[in-house]
Amino acid sequence: MATLIKGGRLVTGVDSYSADVLVEGESISAVGRDLDAPDGAEVVDAAGLLVLPGVIDPHVHVDLELKGHRSSDFTSTSRSAALGGVTTFITYITPAPGQTLVEAAEQRKLQGRGRSHVDFGLHASLVRWSDREDDEVPQMIEAGIPSFKMYTTYGDAGLMSTDEQIYHALLLVSQHGGLVEVHCENDWIIESKIRKLTEQGHLRPADHGASRPGYAEGEAVAAVVRAAYEAGAPVYIVHTSSGESVQVLAEADDVGLEVYAEVCPHHLLLDEQSLAGPEGQRYATCPPIRSGAHREELWEALEEGLIHTVATDHAEFTAEAKDEGGNDFRQLPMGVPGVGTSLPLMWEFGVRKGRITENQLVDRLCTQPAEIFGLCPRKGTLASGTDADIVLFDPDCAVAIDPAVTQGLADYSPYDGWEVSGWPVSTMLRGHWIVRDRELVGSHELGSFVHRKDVCQRPGHRAVEE
Ligand SMILES: [Zn+2]
Repeated sequence: MATLIKGGRLVTGVDSYSADVLVEGESISAVGRDLDAPDGAEVVDAAGLLVLPGVIDPHVHVDLELKGHRSSDFTSTSRSAALGGVTTFITYITPAPGQTLVEAAEQRKLQGRGRSHVDFGLHASLVRWSDREDDEVPQMIEAGIPSFKMYTTYGDAGLMSTDEQIYHALLLVSQHGGLVEVHCENDWIIESKIRKLTEQGHLRPADHGASRPGYAEGEAVAAVVRAAYEAGAPVYIVHTSSGESVQVLAEADDVGLEVYAEVCPHHLLLDEQSLAGPEGQRYATCPPIRSGAHREELWEALEEGLIHTVATDHAEFTAEAKDEGGNDFRQLPMGVPGVGTSLPLMWEFGVRKGRITENQLVDRLCTQPAEIFGLCPRKGTLASGTDADIVLFDPDCAVAIDPAVTQGLADYSPYDGWEVSGWPVSTMLRGHWIVRDRELVGSHELGSFVHRKDVCQRPGHRAVEE
């Protein structure tokens, strides 16, 4: 089985050029000018199209249970992902009380097996630190799960770790060559805000925004960065949403710390005013969407490279589930859909608006997620020998976003009605077409668990020296 993609313009994280791509079996076998099609190969005319590596979304929630509601499962999440040009996502395992990480990982892999249109990896959540055994960390890394999620908040849900626990995890995980990622929001600031808002009866979705100020995030990012400095370990900050956090990232960068950061499209694009609207609850997520001043700092940090990746924190609930908690944000299942719209939105509002280049787009959505999370050299770029995860992106394909386009679980999108001028029209996963002309053609049995190793392979980044 071979496919020759002819006459497209390749865009990688470093350059753009016209070339053909030959796919044989599950891999790219050649990239070059005027390649010949082997006998029996399918020849695809990509004139006028951009040829991109498949997007890697390192922050996706599936089957999340919140406030009595369940978010999109592997099949619906991966369907939306495939249609949006995402060929790999990384989701989470969160062990139940009394369960080991190994048990939880096996359970999660079974859940995804045969049910995903795209490849998926797993992050292990390090919760209930006192119940964890130190050897669980090397066991996870051995099993292809070298990244570990921690939280400075959500004490009520049993997810929170103290700064000291995070410091010990950073030491342990980095010793074994893994990476710790942290959801940073200062828990006591948020808790005291929520208490006050509850006393005042201010519990609308807009008040949810007010309960989690940008400085609560910046405060926690600073504490985690200090813990990483003390431990001499790399660290990854998920969903950076505030200007205060960007300031901390800049300081960490000045002194050469290995701090990686992620931003979500909703924090770059959505305004806090949406939370005050009639459907405000549908925009509610943690950390919350903020003001234009924060968004400006995030865009700059993304362009400058202080922020390394774009990920979606996809947590997709139906409008009905969101609306049920509309009068009291404490009852809301938090999260917004995003995996299916990340690439076209970042193309439109990043590249077309001149905020980032097309190479930065590929670097932040494909290459760096692969390098940071141990997927390279297999994924994240277009080169001979890599997995044939390929997106044909039509820069002149106008689309108005709505649920019929993204085909996820939710019957709404926070971007409903938004118009973009380009869209990923065809997508290939390991040599198999999964989307052709914006139609799903692949099977949900094709995607498989990706064994990851060697995190933090970003050239030029250096670990802290003792
Ligand atoms: Zn998340």
